[in-house]
Amino acid sequence: MKKVIVSGIQPTGEMHIGNYLGAVKNWVDLQNDAQYDRFFFIPDWHSMTIDYEPATKQRLIKNLVRDLLALGIDPKKSTLFVQSHIPEHLELCWNFLTVTPMSELEKMTQFKDKAAKHVENVNVGLFTYPVLMAADILMYKSMIVPAGEDQVQHVELARVIAKKFNNKFGTTFPEPKAMLTEVPRVMSLTESNKKMSKSGGDKSCVFVADSPDIIATKIRKAVTDEQGVQNLLELVKLFDVSTLTYAHLKKDFDAGALKNVELKDTLAELIAAAFADFRNRKEEISDAEVAAVLETGRARARAIAQQTMEEVRIKTGLR
Ligand code: AMP
Repeated sequence: MKKVIVSGIQPTGEMHIGNYLGAVKNWVDLQNDAQYDRFFFIPDWHSMTIDYEPATKQRLIKNLVRDLLALGIDPKKSTLFVQSHIPEHLELCWNFLTVTPMSELEKMTQFKDKAAKHVENVNVGLFTYPVLMAADILMYKSMIVPAGEDQVQHVELARVIAKKFNNKFGTTFPEPKAMLTEVPRVMSLTESNKKMSKSGGDKSCVFVADSPDIIATKIRKAVTDEQGVQNLLELVKLFDVSTLTYAHLKKDFDAGALKNVELKDTLAELIAAAFADFRNRKEEISDAEVAAVLETGRARARAIAQQTMEEVRIKTGLR
């Protein structure tokens, strides 16, 4: 039997290189491994837990799907869908809410961080977000969740929930584990000790769809305190396919002779080159193609979700 992989990316803005290096690059790489059955989705319900403009949501979702397709997610190899197209996720979430101790949710650092950041909108959805995420993962009986470091605690909670459900109602779900990339935490350009995040503002992130000029402008303005320089050098290492450029800059850095402008201009060129093909491919993807891919993904995901929910309704005594 194939091992199931589930992972998602929220439609809250442009995809940045943290999302790419921390998660999406791994999704693409995992597509060539026959031992896995892959489900990638856009958690639009999750994205409602922070303030947003309803009129922009569909554009953000379609844009993200075009990003994923242009970066190499292949709908023939992976099931790509939108969370809210599968209503069973909410039904499973309700079941999980009834087995999740409040104290487990109170431990979640992402809730504490987001609650501190959005003081005017600390809603119950933000608090229960990890339970919906457990439903997203366990609906497809996934054991592997390729994600960035910020999601590890949530995946651990999904294990706790799977265990509690299984103990109460009989073995139904596997206990999933997070799968990290070699760069589970890409740092912000403007605050060198914080992770790159859409909520940190445009200047703090390089978006995968940024033009070479914009990439150069953003990188030129990146902070160059001790940690900032380390972060930029680390990015050079990640984007330098040849490894020669990195070796050269690292040698200068170790000798105390590396100029920040050389570091920055080199990095900007490497990032722009890494996404050149992506930018061209993205332009060719039509709305009709996006709609067709999402419909195929919806049909496959829904069929599995319906099976899982039938099993859950029987085990919980509701049928
Ligand atoms: P989100 O945009 O919050 O839905 O995140 C999508 C994926 O990107 C998740 O797997 C995150 O863990 C990952 N991610 C987000 N920000 C970063 C970052 N700065 N470094 C590495 N991974 C990240």
